[in-house]
Amino acid sequence: MSQYAASPKVDPNTQGLPKRMIDLRSDTVTQPTAAMKQAMIEAPLGDDVYEEDPTVKALEQRLANLLQKEAALFFPSGTQSNLAALLCHCQRGEEVIVGEKYHTFLHEARGASVLGGIAMHPLPTSKLGQIQIADLLAAIKPDDIHDPISKLLALENTVAGCVQDQAHLTALAEAAHAHGLSVHLDGARFFNAVVKQQRAAAELAAPMDSVSICLSKGLGTPAGSVLVGSEKFIRYAKRQRKILGGGMRQTGMLAAAGLYALDHNIERLAEDHEHTRQIAEALAELPELEVDQERLQTNMFFIKPRPADHAPLQQFMAEQGVRIGWQQPWMRCVLHLGVSAQEVEQIIALFKRYYQASRT
Ligand SMILES: *Cc1c(COP(=O)(O)O)cnc(C)c1O
Repeated sequence: MSQYAASPKVDPNTQGLPKRMIDLRSDTVTQPTAAMKQAMIEAPLGDDVYEEDPTVKALEQRLANLLQKEAALFFPSGTQSNLAALLCHCQRGEEVIVGEKYHTFLHEARGASVLGGIAMHPLPTSKLGQIQIADLLAAIKPDDIHDPISKLLALENTVAGCVQDQAHLTALAEAAHAHGLSVHLDGARFFNAVVKQQRAAAELAAPMDSVSICLSKGLGTPAGSVLVGSEKFIRYAKRQRKILGGGMRQTGMLAAAGLYALDHNIERLAEDHEHTRQIAEALAELPELEVDQERLQTNMFFIKPRPADHAPLQQFMAEQGVRIGWQQPWMRCVLHLGVSAQEVEQIIALFKRYYQASRT
């Protein structure tokens, strides 16, 4: 079963071109703007496997500086960046301890185990994405031939749009370090957490040995993630990236989109957060719809239509040009730079129209 909604209907008035859809399925759907494309066209390029692409180097340097770590490495995807990080932190027969709801455990096909021979120990994860220190401590193995060797704690921020408490993350990292484990942060939406808390990126990164950041979500580039860490770690990660087939050539075109995003698309994430809140607050007034108030923190909101409304609501919205989440029973909707303030009003009006019609 495809998880994606049907392709957009063809509108004869647009001569067969698909009509523009407002897409709330994810923030990965963002398209590069004209200005971002221009930056990509103008980027100086070189062969990055020869370490000769100045734009890639500039992007890596910029993120290393922002997070106050020694070095960084550009990857084609967040999945590959996370996998390379896990392969660096753990050898075959060693173990990563990770939240059971985290992407590195749940949505990356267990690549670390499949390709790296790394054992994964999932921990209970609260609705808001938190794991407990007691659970971490209980999961760290003693030196016993019956166990894998605990080597890494993998964290995530944001989790399902929820900002993780920085003091708690720091305490988890300290507990891991005290037992000789390293700490990796999957920061696919790291800057959503930065902007929401109005804290420095370096502060959020400080307890972590490595951080992976997606440029292709709310930051709006067509592709790319960056792994940040120590000089030694990143040198090793470059070898892992090569093994995984992620060494790319004139990839400065993509890195230029990343530099553009860091210049123009970080602060504006606050707009996405505001749009998310506006829609969720309006929908909370509809008696037929539950809105999750707890998981309403950054650029995601979760709604629970009555079971009988699930498919018809999705279909109505799609016919009116809005793609919403498909998940059941809680649908996820994600705001991003592809949705304007005016479209936020349209989205609210359409939800209201669906429910008004359903009452008559
Ligand atoms: C999207 C995402 C990733 C992986 O990114 P891809 O570029 O899609 O491989 C990792 N972690 C989290 C939390 C994500 O949302």
